[in-house]
Amino acid sequence: MTDPDPAAWFPTDYVSSRARFRADCERSRSSPDDYRRAWKVSSNVDQDLTIDHARFARGGDRLLVVQSGIHGSEAQSGAAVEAFVMNNHLPALLAKGIDVAFIHSLNPYGFKYGRRTDEFNVNLNRNFSADGSVFKTVNADYRALRNVFEPSGQVRNVAIASLVEDLVFFDGFAESGFKSKALMDGLDNGQYEFPRGLNYGGTRPREQTRFLREEIGPLLAKPYKKVWFLDYHSGLGDDGVLSIILGLKPAAGPLDELTKMFGGQAKNGIVIKTATSPGFFATFGDVIDFVPGLARDPDSTLAVTMEYGTLGTDALSQLKSATRMILENQAHFNGCATPEILQRVTADFRELFNPSDLGWRGKILREADLVFRTLLEQF
Ligand SMILES: [Zn+2]
Repeated sequence: MTDPDPAAWFPTDYVSSRARFRADCERSRSSPDDYRRAWKVSSNVDQDLTIDHARFARGGDRLLVVQSGIHGSEAQSGAAVEAFVMNNHLPALLAKGIDVAFIHSLNPYGFKYGRRTDEFNVNLNRNFSADGSVFKTVNADYRALRNVFEPSGQVRNVAIASLVEDLVFFDGFAESGFKSKALMDGLDNGQYEFPRGLNYGGTRPREQTRFLREEIGPLLAKPYKKVWFLDYHSGLGDDGVLSIILGLKPAAGPLDELTKMFGGQAKNGIVIKTATSPGFFATFGDVIDFVPGLARDPDSTLAVTMEYGTLGTDALSQLKSATRMILENQAHFNGCATPEILQRVTADFRELFNPSDLGWRGKILREADLVFRTLLEQF
């Protein structure tokens, strides 16, 4: 088939994406068991932020949950997948006994304002913890490298921005004995000490935990034979490749099934990864490690990250992506010396997570199509 047309599916912004989601849901409703709801997210700056979610059921014995936008700057591709699936695959899935739930933009603030985090600089995907223990985590690598991750003062010029990439990181960490693993783990794993820092996980569960418990928990508690929770992201991994990333302890049965379905799909751009795969990393407080605990039977429940790669997994790509995240955070808290610098920092950050390249967008829709065709036949 030819690739789906990205213009038909990729949203331009949060408000229009939400309107489309609502309209698609209303059109797809055909059973009294179907619903769409809007869950208001509290905010100091914007009273129109909602997590919109919907459930479509025909008394199926299996459930798929598709979630987008836990990282706001990554919300577009997930929302595009949701729209594409709702319009192309939902009726067939329902007819085969697979109920489907969609969560549009778990982090509406981040989607609307172009940040990965929520309004309070919390990376929601470092904030999920069944027992609260994650908030006591100490990330020693982050502490040690904090001056690199949180430069002081305004972002002064873009020449320095690219120098940061080339010098501070590449030569700096190579020559000073830092291991790239310490750098990337420090940056990416999550940290709970520095509220203006990167990948800050907060001090207590944000309200999205309550949302999942109250709104999605009852679905996961139903006696489904099996449940898969697909959490859509972008930015990590090889350009245009869909990495299905496993949580810390995936249940053996569903993992086996996932491997049979997607283990041999590298030629089609789909690979299975874990935290220890080169270029990937472990995370504290990840939603995919939290969700199975809400299920009636965690052993028949699988939650995975569905991550569309943009730059690549080689060292230079990792450093580039780290630099863009650091500069965006610095610009957010400290500002930029000129509007041109702000524009460049914002554009680089946006392209890291939501490439405007139509080839990339077409490819990820093709992969989404393949994923849901496969699920239709084999789930
Ligand atoms: Zn993400």
